[in-house]
Amino acid sequence: MSTRSPHFTEPAKKHLGQHFLTDRGIIDSIVLAVDPRPGDRLVEIGPGQGAITFPLLDRHKELTVIEFDRDLIFPLTEAARAHGTLEVIHRDVLTVDFTALARNAGDEGGQIRLVGNLPYNLSSPILFHALEHASAIRDMHFMLQKEVVDRMAAGPGSKVYGRLGVMLQAYCHVTPLFDVPPGAFRPPPKVDSAVVRLVPRAPESIGIDDHALYSAVVRDAFGQRRKTLRNALSNQCDAAAIEAAGVRPGARAEQIEVADFVRLANSLARQRNA
Ligand code: SAM
Repeated sequence: MSTRSPHFTEPAKKHLGQHFLTDRGIIDSIVLAVDPRPGDRLVEIGPGQGAITFPLLDRHKELTVIEFDRDLIFPLTEAARAHGTLEVIHRDVLTVDFTALARNAGDEGGQIRLVGNLPYNLSSPILFHALEHASAIRDMHFMLQKEVVDRMAAGPGSKVYGRLGVMLQAYCHVTPLFDVPPGAFRPPPKVDSAVVRLVPRAPESIGIDDHALYSAVVRDAFGQRRKTLRNALSNQCDAAAIEAAGVRPGARAEQIEVADFVRLANSLARQRNA
């Protein structure tokens, strides 16, 4: 069943990654997965023509959305009146301070819950932006390219285990929920999609001492993924420093668990501060 509304007349804009969800079953599954509860502060990234927005509003009555396309702001605001109270932030999501947004939320320790069928060209920047505000975010439910969700959730030994997964999994529990075919969107994207849930870990359980160093170690380790850690990390440290962290210098990044990357970065941080 189509969710097309008479309020929206503009065609989809490719450069803004606009693929509007039209499959009612998929939309219902997303709302079910989010399962909004009284007091939750829901924030949707890229509401578009409201495919997820209005069903969420029907269920929850209050929602904040962040949309960059100026042509969508008025029709969204108009169409929302029949569903609930919609706060529209007309901005590039990458410039939105989620921590400040959460501070205004008041409930649930000032945390927000993020939802979005993301513009696929911006998915990694949006994920890394969210990580910077992880303590202000209770959870995230995102539609992304399936290939990206596979990388986010992959473990050691998988061909798609890499920087994205190691960065995200250190800060969040990552759970792929369900796949979505191209036909669920208008216009259909060229790739399969998937919905994923990310739940930020409690700050004390993340255990990373120096976030910039962790990020640099992971980046360099996977920069040349066929190389051993000894070689890939030669800008950061020598083999003895890797060994001192209890990690094999002869191993390749794709064989190393997330917890081992955390231990390695923390050990290097201690050695540098000694
Ligand atoms: N949620 C709608 C749906 O499911 O049908 C639209 C999803 S569409 C894949 C992505 C949405 O993100 C579009 O509405 C697009 O205009 C918006 N968008 C693109 N870049 C953005 C940015 N930098 N900041 C905020 N919204 C953006």
